[in-house]
Amino acid sequence: MKVIHSIHELELARAQLGDAQVGLVPTMGALHPGHLSLVEIARKLTDVVVLSIFVNPLQFGPEEDYARYPRPLQQDLEACEKAGVEIVFNPGVNDLFPAARQVSVQAGSLGAVFEGASRPGHFDGMLTVVLKLLNLVQPTIALFGRKDAQQLASVKRMVTDLNVDVEIVPAPIVREADGLAMSSRNQYLSPPDRQSAQALWRALKAASGEVTASAARRTALEVLDQAALDNPNFVLDYAEVVDPDTFAVLDDEDSGPALLAAAALVGTTRLIDNVELTLAAPTEDDSADNRVGAARTS
Ligand code: AMP
Repeated sequence: MKVIHSIHELELARAQLGDAQVGLVPTMGALHPGHLSLVEIARKLTDVVVLSIFVNPLQFGPEEDYARYPRPLQQDLEACEKAGVEIVFNPGVNDLFPAARQVSVQAGSLGAVFEGASRPGHFDGMLTVVLKLLNLVQPTIALFGRKDAQQLASVKRMVTDLNVDVEIVPAPIVREADGLAMSSRNQYLSPPDRQSAQALWRALKAASGEVTASAARRTALEVLDQAALDNPNFVLDYAEVVDPDTFAVLDDEDSGPALLAAAALVGTTRLIDNVELTLAAPTEDDSADNRVGAARTS
């Protein structure tokens, strides 16, 4: 396994790969089985896996956890070696963002809602670094976890809008035994907050069989409101049914694939999660009025 820190070395290594099929797994490190599942998928689909480790300052707000974000590089390199990664790209901030830098990517309206509303500039910063990584590594495919569903949607949008020649491959969410989505940030949680954090998945799972947006939202909120009552450190940001590609909010007239996406601040740790829903088309005698009425009385 090669560990590369400079852009120049990466360019040389990439040139040596020639026409090989390359899979890129962009990460911020502190690797866990969720990240490694992306590597496993990439290994099945390509000849060479490049995993980047870069804690990107552009995607953190001034009050966020950039400085304290975990950076266990040695441990990460061992995990990469074991997982069969061929190249780890671990640039410094000045390598990717020299002082003279001016131009960046703007996520547009998709970057302004939900995670983007709570974390202004987050998606612009994320897309800027992802585009740079795609340009440097020139992968055939790039892997993104469904846990960060709005990130996945934004990256897909960027690749379409800017005609980037790469296939974006989504990967299923990997969870802890109790259902909590694995995240490098879970290690920040105190034991009682870790306990409350389970509510996020319990809420989403409870709502996953619902076929209308309002019922899904209501079922999830019952669990989430209780979690907030039980632990004042559990503060819900949003739980909403959205279009998986645009993150437009859906209502009971909508049918087909949807996401129930939720975010909460648990102590000082921001957690996100989502579940896929299949909304049912309203039938003729299932008018909007009846459906809303049914929702109120149930
Ligand atoms: P991060 O290091 O948090 O930026 O994550 C790097 C990549 O791993 C992103 O595409 C994430 O969506 C993905 N990822 C993180 N946690 C999980 C998880 N629990 N299951 C699946 N993918 C994940």
